[in-house]
Amino acid sequence: MTLAYHDAHNHLQDDWLAPHLDKIAAQLAALPLRAAVVNGTCEDDWARVSELSRRYTWIIPSFGLHPWDVGNRSPIWLEKLSAILATHPNAGVGEIGLDRWILERARPDDPRLVGLRRASLDEQIDIFTTQLKLTAKDNRAATIHCLDAWGALWEILRTATLPARGFLLHAYSGPVEMIGGFADRGAYFSFNGSFLDERHARHRDTFKLVPPDRLLVETDAPAMPLPQPWRTYKLPPSPTGQTVNHPGNIEGAYAGLASLLGLSVEALVAQVDANFTAFFGR
Ligand SMILES: [Zn+2]
Repeated sequence: MTLAYHDAHNHLQDDWLAPHLDKIAAQLAALPLRAAVVNGTCEDDWARVSELSRRYTWIIPSFGLHPWDVGNRSPIWLEKLSAILATHPNAGVGEIGLDRWILERARPDDPRLVGLRRASLDEQIDIFTTQLKLTAKDNRAATIHCLDAWGALWEILRTATLPARGFLLHAYSGPVEMIGGFADRGAYFSFNGSFLDERHARHRDTFKLVPPDRLLVETDAPAMPLPQPWRTYKLPPSPTGQTVNHPGNIEGAYAGLASLLGLSVEALVAQVDANFTAFFGR
């Protein structure tokens, strides 16, 4: 049996991957990677996500305003988002969400946050709920990012009108006790390969309690590199010296998760294949 992988969340449009894109696409085809959800994060990268989805048939595009980018949005962001979604009837909405980490824990000189105005949690909630309404209206796949704001996220998802197909909590790092409530509201949970790092043992073990029919796997490439020995695909470091995660490391993320769950990779591939199709529609 050929193992075919699905990456529930990455950023193939990122500048860090751009110089290597042809080679990366050939490597992903050889894996094979059957589908990847490529998430836009700000008004400036939506056109590039759209263009990539027309170039590569295995890409499912997703468009949204990431909580880190909420503070730098233009006055017409919502018109622009609605317009690009209208040209992609099967696109998802994401990456959207809430992030208190950038407000309370991020280092002031974190190179990833340079030039960003960090929106307050109230402002993030306003923009998140606006985007969530778009997903519910057209039953689009919503991809949600949450860091250090699980109580606030639950308060919204508990009562909001949600897309009938459910929603994805990408790289789920919330409390294990909240899985049941989120699952009842329709959540899927994607396992990120970086959780294989010993420093993320708590996030990793949480996935033992995710309902099997709600499990997905992701890279978040070029972010969130996997630890060795799971990182088998490599790229040169970013201009600022950071490790660049290759989307081919979806293979390592599946292998690591299968071993964590005591499953064969074949069994995990079959389960994730069914879940991915149920949620993303292919
Ligand atoms: Zn992401």
